[in-house]
Amino acid sequence: MYHFIIIGAGVGGCTLFKELNEKYPNKKILLLEMGDRRIRYNSTGSEVQILYITALGGSGLGAVGNAMRIDLRDIGIRDREIYEEIERELNVRVVPDSHINERSRYLFRYRFKRTPKFIDFNRCSSCGMCARKLCPYKWTPLRFLNMSNPYSKVIPNFYVSSIVKERDIFKVEGYQLLTGRKVTFQGEKVIVCGGGINSPRVLSSILDNEHLGKNLFVDIFLTVGGVLKNCNLDRSVPMALYKRYDRFLLSPHYSLHLYRAIKEEKRDVSSGDIYGIMVKIGDEGKGFVEGNKVYKGVTERDKRILSKGIKKASHILEDMGIDRIYRTVLRGSHPGGTCAMGKVVDKNFETEVEDLYVCDASVFPESPGLPPILGIVAMGKKLGGIL
Ligand SMILES: Cc1cc2nc3c(=O)[nH]c(=O)nc-3n(C[C@H](O)[C@H](O)[C@H](O)COP(=O)(O)OP(=O)(O)OC[C@H]3O[C@@H](n4cnc5c(N)ncnc54)[C@H](O)[C@@H]3O)c2cc1C
Repeated sequence: MYHFIIIGAGVGGCTLFKELNEKYPNKKILLLEMGDRRIRYNSTGSEVQILYITALGGSGLGAVGNAMRIDLRDIGIRDREIYEEIERELNVRVVPDSHINERSRYLFRYRFKRTPKFIDFNRCSSCGMCARKLCPYKWTPLRFLNMSNPYSKVIPNFYVSSIVKERDIFKVEGYQLLTGRKVTFQGEKVIVCGGGINSPRVLSSILDNEHLGKNLFVDIFLTVGGVLKNCNLDRSVPMALYKRYDRFLLSPHYSLHLYRAIKEEKRDVSSGDIYGIMVKIGDEGKGFVEGNKVYKGVTERDKRILSKGIKKASHILEDMGIDRIYRTVLRGSHPGGTCAMGKVVDKNFETEVEDLYVCDASVFPESPGLPPILGIVAMGKKLGGIL
């Protein structure tokens, strides 16, 4: 019997695992994760392609290191100190001069700022691969798994299929993905941290809440760009600068999709000739997850904001000397909102089933419109304090 069972070893799950291990070094804590140490991307949705990662470390493994402070008042966190503590822990620094792409410096004319990142720039080689390979110089949630508590356990390659509660005891059921063996774990408290797409799926086995899976936002983005000979953005720190406008954000971003699209027309371009600016918005929570189905459309409001962002980015790119502007399809890599606080969980992150909690991006009632990792870590610390 475990005191705590955490489902999902992403940003929320790993933070909570660390916090609970520090607080209760003698309690039995189990962390179940369907992935392992490999980065496996999932892509779902139609109108907007939604990206997330299945792995120990969750989508945090593919993060490009952006460490933004988001407004957490909606989830009852008001103190600034929590961010100061997290930034110390993750060693957050703004991107130094040495790591800013030569051509991106042009963006300072538009008052772009250096992005705060959880990357060790004394060692980062600017390979540009942050989202695609494991890097020892970037913080990932894996660092929160090094616990000395002999009673705690992390089980990778374990898929949780359902949760049942019988006389105050939870039965967490699932199977080992490598062997197919079915296993049931028993626990006193369960915290679901499966992320914006999967938490509502796991919870649908035990909760009957009309809001579960609704209100999906993903922070829709696209990259606008073209050919800027030898700019070498592909070998630069991604999103090293940023600027916030009214309801959208712009940031220099090399996109493989953009490169492929341009290459089809212009055979002589290389990846080092592609320059792009990402346009990212905080979209309306109008999508949903229902069983295996995930729907995320683009509302009229989203379209208006996106088109403002595209216009602004195109204008800057033209100023930089890019004559033909291309753009990628719409994507989103910050799924959340599907177990919203106030609708599915209360202010203590607890569902209507006593001792069953949620702690990940699905708890945000609406899109923060900014990279959410720091906010999710703050959430894990807050729940760690409550439990
Ligand atoms: C390419 C990319 C780059 C990004 N860059 C940044 C960035 O620079 N800064 C930033 O702030 N944000 C970034 N994000 C977003 C950020 O990574 C996510 O918002 C964050 O990881 C979400 O945390 P989470 O705890 O909600 O879910 P996740 O981190 O996605 O974790 C959920 C975990 O639960 C596991 N799981 C789900 N269901 C089950 C089940 N049934 N059984 C067992 N395990 C299960 C999953 O495998 C996964 O590991 C990026 C995202 C992507 C995809």
